[in-house]
Amino acid sequence: MFVSRIVAGLLLFVVSVTPSVAQPLSPQLVARASQLAEEALADTLAYGLVESLTTEVGPRLAGTGSEARARQWAVAKLKSLGFDNVRIEPFELPVWVRGLERAEITAPFPQPLVITALGGSVATGPGGVEGEVVAFASLEDLADAPASTVRDRIVFVDETMTRTQDGSGYSVAVAKRQKAAFVGADKGALAVLIRSVGTSGHRFAHTGQMRRVTEPGTDRGVPAAALSAPDADQLQRMLKTHDGVRLRMVLTPEQRPAGVSGNVIAEIPGAEAAEEIVLVGAHLDSWDLGTGAVDDGAGVGIVVAAAHHVLAAEPAGLRRTVRVVLFGAEEVGLVGAKAYAGHYASALPQHIIASESDFGAGRIWRFDTGVGPGRVAAAQGLGTVIRQLGAAPGTNTATGGPDMKYLREAGVPVVGLKQNGWDYFDLHHTPNDTLDKINPDDLAHNVAAWVSFIYLAANSEDYYR
Ligand code: ZN
Ligand code: ZN
Repeated sequence: MFVSRIVAGLLLFVVSVTPSVAQPLSPQLVARASQLAEEALADTLAYGLVESLTTEVGPRLAGTGSEARARQWAVAKLKSLGFDNVRIEPFELPVWVRGLERAEITAPFPQPLVITALGGSVATGPGGVEGEVVAFASLEDLADAPASTVRDRIVFVDETMTRTQDGSGYSVAVAKRQKAAFVGADKGALAVLIRSVGTSGHRFAHTGQMRRVTEPGTDRGVPAAALSAPDADQLQRMLKTHDGVRLRMVLTPEQRPAGVSGNVIAEIPGAEAAEEIVLVGAHLDSWDLGTGAVDDGAGVGIVVAAAHHVLAAEPAGLRRTVRVVLFGAEEVGLVGAKAYAGHYASALPQHIIASESDFGAGRIWRFDTGVGPGRVAAAQGLGTVIRQLGAAPGTNTATGGPDMKYLREAGVPVVGLKQNGWDYFDLHHTPNDTLDKINPDDLAHNVAAWVSFIYLAANSEDYYR
């Protein structure tokens, strides 16, 4: 009697905190997902899409005409692949465009350096700035330095990034890219140079946005650029052995007050619970230096091809609606992600689960969840076939990808199909991010994994909050 009252109480509790009683995935669903994934291992659509996007559109800087052409490209592809409700949802944003970028050591051993402007940097003016270089081992050291050591000098922040499989070195190293120009400005610096945020030893620099805001702020920092790793080494050698190392830097980027970007959306309408959304995303914009093949042409190819395999296998649709979102303006501060979350604010409770592919074309090695505390085992069920493909179960700390930030903050459950990122930051935001870096077999492995996730999530009767 006593025990059964406890059980009844527990049941009441469970019913009150979850929208429905847990519905484990049936063996039939898992078997079908496994079969579809097996077929998708031979996928060539994803590679064809990345090839087309990077060749026919090329670089796709947010808010520019090239990004607009990418949206037209996406609409045409999604329609021709048979998706429903294909549309562009535009939004406005300030637009930053790169200009000339040049740097040279003027003393004691004059010679050119390879640099690239950081996204959002102000210009030096056509004559550039010239001054003595003061180096700091890290952003923290710069922040702790008295202004007198920085004023009227060119700051060099020489922090290296650690190579890791999961990319965790990036979130540490990126702080200097985001903030050094503003910390330097506070202390009266002329300009800021950072060692590139990346792991390549090649002689090109890695760009990237300085901070994740979209409004042109009152505090715009000083001109800021990244040095290639070998050039950072060269500068460091001179600084170690000589006083009075001087440098000239010219940057002429332009900040335009208003431009247009947009998210491209396509759907496979749900057959039974059409109001319930399984969202799979990637971002359509890229930096301007390369052709945005691994960042994030690969993600676009992966999610579009995976959703298309599911559509081809189940033309009448799955239980839930599958929504493909190709975000605009990710690189310059998740502007498209914010626009989406705002536009669909009232529908976010019906977003059952979401994820973005934005980590290159490496194979998936782990399946993470970012779901309600009692829902981890159920959400790991959506990775059943992905584990058959060789991935390990991960943690419940998934972010779901950069463009999932606002959805996650609004309580939308996410998963992370974690890709091997060992080489990703060799290419990231550089002129070397081009199609030849993508291995078609690895890309197809991703497609297979996403096919199984989409199929299971959209046919599941379970919830993950
Ligand atoms: Zn990206
Ligand atoms: Zn990026």
